[in-house]
Amino acid sequence: MTRRKIVAGNWKMNGSVESVVELVKGLNACDTLDVVVAPSFVYLPLVAQQLVDSSIKLAAQNASEYNSGPYTGEVSLSMLQDFSVSHVILGHSERRALFAETDTQVAKKVAATLAAGLTPILCVGETLEQREVGTTLAVCNAQVDAVLNEIGVELFEQVVVAYEPVWAIGTGKSATSEQAQEVHKGIRDNIATQSAEIAEKIAILYGGSVKASNSAELFAQPDIDGALVGGASLDAKEFNSIIESAK
Ligand code: PEP
Repeated sequence: MTRRKIVAGNWKMNGSVESVVELVKGLNACDTLDVVVAPSFVYLPLVAQQLVDSSIKLAAQNASEYNSGPYTGEVSLSMLQDFSVSHVILGHSERRALFAETDTQVAKKVAATLAAGLTPILCVGETLEQREVGTTLAVCNAQVDAVLNEIGVELFEQVVVAYEPVWAIGTGKSATSEQAQEVHKGIRDNIATQSAEIAEKIAILYGGSVKASNSAELFAQPDIDGALVGGASLDAKEFNSIIESAK
């Protein structure tokens, strides 16, 4: 089956009012695939305003699993909805490693995101040590299973998975297209044990040092349905080339 591709840019904690405005001005929308950008929370209103007449979609880089209340420093899903956010990146390895987010917490965030009618982009991936001892698929599938157990396979159809090997994020060292394809297929096969139909439908993005020079080869793989791009998404020209290669 042909799945609609998604190219998402994770801007992480980068940018300024000036640079964000310039970056958005330089981006090309595309009718045949979903282009998504994820600025820092504080720039969401600004970018939302700039994208009013654009098909480019807006993502947050995180969200609280709670609706409202005494959670200092957190941002709720209803707040994100106020600014036309359609996607939420969840379980990014930086959040798991630096902010101690657990599989259980990520699963609750995915459930809350779906309940709010937004699309979660669920990041999973192994560390270099885990790859070297041969537990890559076990690690990725355990992260997926935590969510499957929380929400059930039917709702999982609305989840976008991003396979992001931790050792490839921000390192300039991308997984080869064969390495990525192998894990994407393994993730899809694991979901298929619960529902072959849903496994075929869900988008699995690759993330980890994606750039214009390696994106086409990655996108040519049968189970790679697009990319979650970090560093290269901060350069409009480079990001546009990645989008172009996904067409
Ligand atoms: C990311 O942070 O999701 C990512 C994939 O980063 P980079 O493309 O810079 O490796």
